[in-house]
Amino acid sequence: VVTVYLGLGSNIGDRKDTLCKAIVMISGKIGSITNISSLYESEAWGYESKNKFLNAVIAVETSLFPDEILSEIKGMEIMLGREEKGKDGYEDRPIDIDILFYDKFVFETDILTVPHPHLEKRKFVLAPLAEIAPDFMHPILHKNIKELNEACKDEIQFFEG
Ligand code: AMP
Repeated sequence: VVTVYLGLGSNIGDRKDTLCKAIVMISGKIGSITNISSLYESEAWGYESKNKFLNAVIAVETSLFPDEILSEIKGMEIMLGREEKGKDGYEDRPIDIDILFYDKFVFETDILTVPHPHLEKRKFVLAPLAEIAPDFMHPILHKNIKELNEACKDEIQFFEG
């Protein structure tokens, strides 16, 4: 059994409800949820959108392999109303689930890069992650999440409600 950290985001529809449904599905399909961050609200990252994201990070104890997790995640994204991806880049979406870390493992395949690339630039990942795993060492950068979060200056807000 390993701990996998998943990042969740939603910026259209009933965002909070969708995140809750995703967490329930994850606990049924991927493993026991051992920690859930608070909710954060952030501007769309990497593209322009009037719809802000609601984000959270969870820790899950799983016996699945990373490719099995990815295929479960893709199934959930579709069930929660995500449509086929556009041609390129980022877009509004009811749900996005990313594999941030798979324990301390580092690997890259055609379909999966773990740790998630560029997570150190994204406050919407680091702020919630710093709540539940401040001492977790990034296996490539060799800095812990608390340090990475303090170094990342993007805007982010706690979501109340
Ligand atoms: P998106 O949902 O738009 O973030 O992109 C999903 C695609 O990114 C998936 O189909 C994966 O093949 C690929 N991908 C690469 N690395 C990861 C990762 N660490 N977590 C989730 N998806 C990943």
